[in-house]
Amino acid sequence: MNSSDATYCVDERGFFGRYGGVYVPEILKPNTDALSACYRQIIESEAFQHEYHSLLRDYVGRPSPLWLSPSLSRRYGRRVYLKREDLNHTGAHKINNALGQILLARAMGKTRIIAETGAGQHGLATATVCALFDMPCTVYMGQVDIARQQPNVAKMRLLGADVRAVESGNQTLKDAVNEALRDWCSHPSETFYLMGSAVGPHPYPDLVERLQAVISKEICAQLLEKEGREYPDMAVACLGGGSNAAGTFHRFLNEKSVRLVCAEADGLGIVGKSAATIIRGCDGILHGARTIVMQDEDGQITEPYSISAGLDYPGVGPLHAHLAQSGRAEMVAVTDGEALAAAYELNRSEGILPAIESAHALGALGKLAWKQEQVVVVTLSGRGDKDIETYLKHCSKYINQ
Ligand SMILES: *Cc1c(COP(=O)(O)O)cnc(C)c1O
Repeated sequence: MNSSDATYCVDERGFFGRYGGVYVPEILKPNTDALSACYRQIIESEAFQHEYHSLLRDYVGRPSPLWLSPSLSRRYGRRVYLKREDLNHTGAHKINNALGQILLARAMGKTRIIAETGAGQHGLATATVCALFDMPCTVYMGQVDIARQQPNVAKMRLLGADVRAVESGNQTLKDAVNEALRDWCSHPSETFYLMGSAVGPHPYPDLVERLQAVISKEICAQLLEKEGREYPDMAVACLGGGSNAAGTFHRFLNEKSVRLVCAEADGLGIVGKSAATIIRGCDGILHGARTIVMQDEDGQITEPYSISAGLDYPGVGPLHAHLAQSGRAEMVAVTDGEALAAAYELNRSEGILPAIESAHALGALGKLAWKQEQVVVVTLSGRGDKDIETYLKHCSKYINQ
């Protein structure tokens, strides 16, 4: 398929081009079918939209600002705007999705929430909305991630969540997703699986994109006010599972004048020490969907590596696999060192400490072949408070120079 006849909406079978679908055990099929049958109708209803947008405004603090970054604009000779998802309640874009999904769970009569988390940002957002809606919450998290993300684990427990350590596999995000899927198989009728990114079986990738689309909608309104036009020339986001990128790109997918750029985490920049799934991976099936995955010659999923726990995932959402395969979006590999340098620079020049995930999107700016773009929007998906230890550990290389 070439990009001229590509469409970027999910089809009735749950595919984006050749990616997506529902590859789940028989026992889960009734659950994904039930969700597929009702999600559009519920989230498009007036009652849902009213409650969702009231919560985004009064609880999350939206709209998030669109900040014209003086230092990045100077450096690149363009007007570079930062979409400040870091200023949301709980510190990242994850809360947009968690609020929408818990409203959906309640509308479907579900009484128990489960989730998986890597860096803990999605677990924190889920535990937060479960406190707000008084629902029991179980969060699966790899033992290795529990050890390296203590502040978020403590916050989840204070919020009343049951954080369960996963000791299978490499004890990171992939294994936590497996465990959450297993839980869903054992308690299919009362449990809602609150998925943290634009991944998993249909309809999750489409559902999560729709709930994060508020990012794109606000960018259009804010650019209209500041630039007199709704569309930027380029939109840039970091790519883990793909939720902040999907939310950033949503309105621009069919607007070919907008260049779309995804920053993948390339870790140490070598095979085996990278999490740049699309750049280094190939077609496979992971967590209920056909997508691009990191795997060995036997089709075994290989362990990704990135300094950023939120991008350290061996798969990617099917929309993004399709955007890459059809040529609609470009993928840029950004190493740990490039992301760290970009984070220090923004912090020192503007007093904004980005999440290490978001710093990859900033790092991509320095690696692009620039064309005529004048107005650029970079999504700052989260704040760096959770990454203080990582930043301090590496800071001698970057400060006082
Ligand atoms: C989880 C997370 C990401 C990666 O997830 P996506 O679904 O790709 O957006 C990026 N940035 C932050 C701050 C996160 O918490």
